[in-house]
Amino acid sequence: MNAAAALFAGLLFACGMAGAQVPESGRVQELSFSAEEVASTVEDRYIDRMVELAAAGRLDDDRALLARLQTIGAGLIRAAVALKPEAVAWQWEFHTTSDTDVDAICMAGGKILVGSAFVRQLALNDGELATLLAHEIAHAVAEHHRETLSEALFLNRYPAVPLEVVMERLESDVSVQIRLSKLSSLQESEADQLGMVLAHRAGWPAADMVSFYRKLSDGDQLALVAGAYPASASRLSMAKGMALLFQSSR
Ligand SMILES: [Zn+2]
Repeated sequence: MNAAAALFAGLLFACGMAGAQVPESGRVQELSFSAEEVASTVEDRYIDRMVELAAAGRLDDDRALLARLQTIGAGLIRAAVALKPEAVAWQWEFHTTSDTDVDAICMAGGKILVGSAFVRQLALNDGELATLLAHEIAHAVAEHHRETLSEALFLNRYPAVPLEVVMERLESDVSVQIRLSKLSSLQESEADQLGMVLAHRAGWPAADMVSFYRKLSDGDQLALVAGAYPASASRLSMAKGMALLFQSSR
């Protein structure tokens, strides 16, 4: 750490914030909640969601897809841990749902839910499915939930508000969502790029990554996270650019 970085870290600390850096991109994040606090608050919601889906008979009801997710996910998690060592202690979980409202979701701490209808609709092969999973894993690795909640707290300027309240406001208050939309779209692009790095390191061919983004672009699929989505055509160009990069670095 150089003197300026040390000063910056000191300033963040003085403001009650922890400075963190996103692996690979090196982007500095300002984080005001601890990783543990975010994970435990999200955990309650996650359990509610799982119970709800299970009660409706819509959780893990595609056993073949679940097996694919677990096999493909294991290699991607190894790549993730190489970039972010503390991720080895996270409670990674993969699930499927036949709820057609879900395409793919990553919750803080590495809980990933994939919609079986979405996978079927795009007829994803293993490398393409790995690209989708890697995007979601990248959100966890880059701690995007923690960053979004920290930013929401900052926007609200309610330093004493507990995390639970910030989370509710983030979910229900459109004005907060709009003010965070720039950060959301930055996070989506970052998850695309970091995800491709993870998939590449896990040994998946770049051609499958490009074809995943081509399928999204061709079908003009809806957002993985509603609203916060870079145009699918620009995601496809990004994927092609990254594929060239992987090729030239071989
Ligand atoms: Zn995303």
